Order: sequence, then structure tokens, then C-alpha cells
Amino acid sequence: MVSSKATRRRIQAIQALTGFSHKIAPMEYLGVPIFYGKAKAIYFEKLLTRIRRKMDAFSVPKSIVKALEILFSNFIWGSTEGKKKRKWISWPKITRPTAMGGLGLRPLAMTLKAFRMKAAWNILNADTLWASFMRAKYIKGKNLRTINLIASASKSWRDIWCCLQDLVELATWEFGPGDFSVITENWRGSGSLLHLEGSMDYAHITLKEAALMQFNIPLFPQELQQDLREDFHLKKRQDSHDRRIWPYSSNGDFSIKSYITEVTDSRCRNIFVKIWQNFIPTKISFFIWKLLHEALPVDSAVSKCHIQMASRCVCCISPKEESFMHLFYHGDLAKKAWLHFNDLFDLRMPRFTNIKNILNAWLQTASVNQIDAKPPKKILKANRSSKK
Ligand SMILES: [Zn+2]
Repeated sequence: MVSSKATRRRIQAIQALTGFSHKIAPMEYLGVPIFYGKAKAIYFEKLLTRIRRKMDAFSVPKSIVKALEILFSNFIWGSTEGKKKRKWISWPKITRPTAMGGLGLRPLAMTLKAFRMKAAWNILNADTLWASFMRAKYIKGKNLRTINLIASASKSWRDIWCCLQDLVELATWEFGPGDFSVITENWRGSGSLLHLEGSMDYAHITLKEAALMQFNIPLFPQELQQDLREDFHLKKRQDSHDRRIWPYSSNGDFSIKSYITEVTDSRCRNIFVKIWQNFIPTKISFFIWKLLHEALPVDSAVSKCHIQMASRCVCCISPKEESFMHLFYHGDLAKKAWLHFNDLFDLRMPRFTNIKNILNAWLQTASVNQIDAKPPKKILKANRSSKK
């Protein structure tokens, strides 16, 4: 770059002397735009594309993420005469949702994870050349849960592998034939059946095959078999093919926005925040707290303390072993109670595998009703009829 008044001969002389080539602004030097006057967005387009390409590449090292976040945080608190100002609030607090006292900024790591999840989703579902290649190279038609990471696996495959595992657990299915694992896929929408002991031995059985056997598989306890049959008939669609569904978006496709919303919300949905809300009497909050920690003298808990006993529940016509799930969910009395109140509040609850999920679903409804401060119609009706 030389002055616009420089003559052609002078430019040539400089070129010959220094070996540099002559360019006219705006131009790029060592990847950075060089220009006269005011910075225009277009000068930075190439640089932005390069950053974007780097972000899309799955693995940004943790150190880079950290460095970038420090830059953002410096930007928020500012500096005077090159000296950084004191940061009064920690970065994790700033990145909380506004409802939780943060500024609602997305942590960079979360954004990057969302991009990786999107890539993993495409590997599972997209019809692109890249997706087919990745499927052929890494998945080879195998059950995703049985694919192990080998020690020499690359960093990017490691990252994608983790996302694939997350996706299989979070995503649910819209199914017709049911040609996928009855165990490892979350086809019921309340989690996979991987928590059952010895489940991996049955991972190869498809939903279709299990349904043909009426779910009469030694792995499933009687009670669960009944639940599985009901769920299967409830969810099966005659005219549909099998399609993996992302449950947090309206069209069932994964989107970065829906992922981030879900992750952020679930941070707010922490059950231990909810149980201490004002409208719940302290005595009840305390009871729920103990229940969540399984710190109640239920038979199954007592026998864990090596106290021998014959467990017989008092809630069923034909007594069964008393466990937390039995006493508070599966038992005759518990079933009746849930049914009664779910009906009263118009709740359609999916089947749950643990008490935390049940309470979460309930408390979610409870806090919504609190804000609306409108009693459900059925309660009003019940009140009216009792006054007559
Ligand atoms: Zn019982």
C-alpha cells in the first residue's frame, strides 16, 4: 500500500527493492482486513466465515472457549486506560437465564455443544452425502449404545459420540413397524429401559419383536410388561414409518434454538428449587425432600440397613414388597390417589420411572396454576355440586 499520489515508477521501484507486491485497499494481510477510513462489515466477511467454519468443526479446545469467554466478560465490565475493571459477578452467574438473576447470555460451551448436537442429529437422520458417509464409517448399522469408544478415537469423534448417546436418550419415536431396540431407544418418552439390570443382553430385540411376544421377556417385571403393552398400543401408528423425533421442537426436528431453550429451562426446573415454594406447607416440603433422598423408613430402605424383615405393604389387597416406587406410585392406594388428582387437574401424565419425574411434572403444573390463579374447572364443578 502506498499513497494514492505515488507514481507508477515509484511503486515499481519499491516492489523491486522490497520484494513486496502492490495491493489496493481494502485488502487482507495475514488474514486481517486492512482498509482506509471507517470499518465496514463487508471487510470482515472472510474473517467471520473462517471463525464460523472453525466453530462448525466440532472440537474447539476448552482453552479457546475459556479465552473467548474471558474476552466477552472483559467486554461487559469494560476497562479504563487499558486496565481491566473489577468483575463483580462471576461468568457462570451472568450466563444464567434472566429469571434466575443472570443476563441470559449463552455460555459459549453450550452453544458449541448445540452445534455438535445438530451435527450428530444429522448423522442419525439426514439424507446428505456427509451423513451417509459418517453412518457408514462409524455406525455401520449397529445399535448406537453398543458402539464403544476406542482409546485411539479422535477428539471430534469422541465429541460426536457423546452427543449421539445424549440424542438417543432424549429423542423419542413416532413409530409404525418399530424396527429399533425396545431397550436402548426412548420410544415411550419417559427414558430408555437401560436402567434394568442385565438390559444390554436384550438390546438387540426390536420393539416389533417385543410386541409380538406381548413384552413377555424375562427382563421385564410383570408390572412393567403391562405398562409397556399399554404404551405400545397407545403410541403405535398404523400408517406411519419409524421416525426419530426431537421432542422439544414443534415439528420433531432438532433445532439449535430448541436445544438451548430446553437445556436452559431444565436448569430452572431443578426440583429442589421447586419443593420449597411458598404455596407448599413447610411440613410437606420437608417430607418431599426426605422422599427425594429416599430417607423414609420404607421397608426396602430399612432392609438396606441390614435389618432382616419380611416386607409386606399395607396399601394393596394382596400385599407386595414395600419399596418407594411401590408405596408412592405402583401400589393400589397410590394408583388410586394419582388417578383421582390427575383427573381433577386434567393432567395427562406419561408413565414414570422415578419419583423425581412424577413430582417434577406435578410441580410444573402447580406453579403454572399458581401464576394463573385460576382453579381448574373440574374443582369448581365439584365445589358447586357439593353446595347444592
Ligand atoms: Zn401395596
